[in-house]
Amino acid sequence: MARRPIIAGNWKMNNTIAAGVELVKALAPLVKDNNTVDIVVCPTATALSGVGEALKGTNIALGAQNVHWEKSGAYTGEISTDMLKEVGATYCVLGHSERRDYFGETDEGVNKRAHAAFAAGITPIICCGESLEIREAGNYINHVVNQINAALEGFKADEVAKLVIAYEPIWAIGTGKTATFEQAEEVCKAIREAVAKKFDQKAADAIRIQYGGSVKPATIKDLMAQPNVDGALVGGAALKAKDFSEIVNF
Ligand code: PGA
Repeated sequence: MARRPIIAGNWKMNNTIAAGVELVKALAPLVKDNNTVDIVVCPTATALSGVGEALKGTNIALGAQNVHWEKSGAYTGEISTDMLKEVGATYCVLGHSERRDYFGETDEGVNKRAHAAFAAGITPIICCGESLEIREAGNYINHVVNQINAALEGFKADEVAKLVIAYEPIWAIGTGKTATFEQAEEVCKAIREAVAKKFDQKAADAIRIQYGGSVKPATIKDLMAQPNVDGALVGGAALKAKDFSEIVNF
C-alpha cells in the first residue's frame, strides 16, 4: 500500500512571528508544485496565528508543537485544541524527546494529548526515540515499542491508521549524526510491526512513520527509499527555506 509521504518542520523555540512569516513566504514558492508530499510547518505557539495566515492558499499545512487534553481551564502555559483549531492548525507534534526530557512529559500525558488532538480533528505526530545509553545497552526496540504502545492506548484500529509517528533517536537530534538508513528502517519497521500486533495489519499498513534526527537535503533521498520510512520530522534544516524545500522535494 502506497503511503503518502509527510515531511514536517519542527521549528522548536525559534522564529518570532515576523521571522516565521518571512520563512514561509520564502518556502511557499519553492514547494508550490509539489503535490506528492504532505508538507507541514510547526511554529512556536505565538507564531501559529501569523504563520497560519501566511500559509493561506499554499500547499503547506500548519502544525503545533503541543496541545493539552482539557478543553479549557486552569492549566497555565498550556494550549487547547480549540485554540489550535482557531488558528487553522491541523497537525500537532506530541511527546517530543525535548518535552519528555526537559519538561517531564510522560507516556500517559502523550496518550491523553493524542486523544484530545485526534478527537478535535488535529492529526497527532507522536514522537518516540531512545537515548544513546538505551541504544548502546541494546534494548532500543523495546523502549520505542513501549512508548508507542502507551501513546496509542485506547485508539481504535481505523483511527490509528490516520496517525503519524516520528521515530527520533535522541542521539541523532541536533547533533549532525543522522542514524544510518538501516538504523532508521530497523526501528520504523519494528514500530509498524508493533502496530500490526496491537491493532491490525490494515492500521499498520496505513499509519505513516517519519524518521527525525539531523535530516538534511543530502540524506533525505536514501531515508525515503526505506520501505518503512514515510517521511521526516525536521528540526534545524527546517529553519532555512532552501534546505527544507530540498528535503520536501526529495
Ligand atoms: P534536528 O531535530 O533535525 O535538528 O535534529 C529533529 C527534531 O528534533 O524533530
